Amino acid sequence: MRGLMKTARGPGNLELRDVEDPRPAEDQVLIEVSAAGICGTDVHIKHDQAFYTPPVILGHEYSGEVIEVGRDVSAVNVGDQVVSPATAYCGKCYQCKTGHMNRCTASDKRILGTSLANGAFAKYIVVPEYIVHKVPKGVSEEEAALAEPTACVVHSVIDKSPIQPGDVVVVQGPGTMGLLSAQVAKAMGAGKVILTGVSSDQWRFDIARRAGVDITLDVQAEADPVGLVMDETDGRGADVVIEASGACVACTQALDFVKVSGHVTLLGVRGMSLNIDLDPMVTKELTMSGTWGTLPSSWVTTLRLMSTRKIDVAPLITHRIALSEWERGFELMETQQAIKVLFTDLS
Ligand SMILES: [Zn+2]
Ligand SMILES: [Zn+2]
Repeated sequence: MRGLMKTARGPGNLELRDVEDPRPAEDQVLIEVSAAGICGTDVHIKHDQAFYTPPVILGHEYSGEVIEVGRDVSAVNVGDQVVSPATAYCGKCYQCKTGHMNRCTASDKRILGTSLANGAFAKYIVVPEYIVHKVPKGVSEEEAALAEPTACVVHSVIDKSPIQPGDVVVVQGPGTMGLLSAQVAKAMGAGKVILTGVSSDQWRFDIARRAGVDITLDVQAEADPVGLVMDETDGRGADVVIEASGACVACTQALDFVKVSGHVTLLGVRGMSLNIDLDPMVTKELTMSGTWGTLPSSWVTTLRLMSTRKIDVAPLITHRIALSEWERGFELMETQQAIKVLFTDLS
C-alpha cells in the first residue's frame, strides 16, 4: 500500500511511500481506512514543529472497516465500522491505574501517526483491539472520521468545564475545535453560545451559524468585544469561556469575558510563551482547566452525541480529496482555507 510518510526529521520530508500491507498481531485488528482528516498536528509535524519519531505514516483522525482480526481478538468483528484514539496505553503505570490513560507514562507508548505506530493516511491501519470503538448506526464514515477531535473536545468541555443549563458560553476561535466546542456546550444545555474570531473568519462564521452558534463576534471589527459580551449577559460576563484559538491575545481576553467565579477552559493554547496578567484569576475568583487528549469514556460520549444528532460534525467537513492530492490538502490547512479536509480515497 501507499502511505503518506514523514520519512526523516526536519521540515518537509513528507512523501507518499510504498510500504508492505500491515498484518494484525494476535491482539490487533486490521482496518481499511474509509476517511481520514488532516489535523493541525499533522501540519506541525510536516514543519518539524511537533513531537514525532520518523519514519512514520501520519494521520490519527480516521474511521474505517475491520477486515481482519488477530487470534486473541474477541469483541471486534470483521465488518465492524470503527474509530480509535491515537494513543495506546500500558494499563500498568500510575497514570493508567488512576484513570488518566491519556497521560500514560510508558516509554514504549505507541501513538498512531506520530510515534512507533503508523497512522491512517494509508489504505490500511492496524490498532490494538482494546482502543477500538464501534461506530453506531446512523453515523457516516465521514462523520466518524471527526470522532477524534470531537472526543478531545468532549473530554475538555464535558469532563472539565462546569457548564450549566442556560449558561452563556464564549468560545474563542472558529476552527475545528472551536466549532465542536460550541456544539458540545449546546449539548450540555448552554443557553447562548458566542463564538469569537477575526475579520478573515467571516466564512467560518457562516458555517458556525449553521452549526448552532447563536452569536458570532469579530473581535477585530467590533469596537468593544468585552462590552458586547457584557450586553449579552446582563453585565455579568460569560459563565464559561473556552479558549480554542491558540492565540495569545485571546487568552488575555478570556479573563475579561468571563464572569466573577466563572471558568476558563484552555483547549488551544500550547507551545507559546504566555505573557498574561493572571490577577483576574484572584480578583474574579476564577477556575481554569486544561486537558490533554481523550479518555476511553470520551469516545463513548462522543459517539452517542453523534448518533443522537446532539452534535452534527458534517458542516465542518469543507473538503474531500484523494490521498494522492495530499499536497493540496496540506496547503488548504496551512493557508487556513479549510476547516476539516478529509482524505476519502486512500487507495
Ligand atoms: Zn489531531
Ligand atoms: Zn500507562
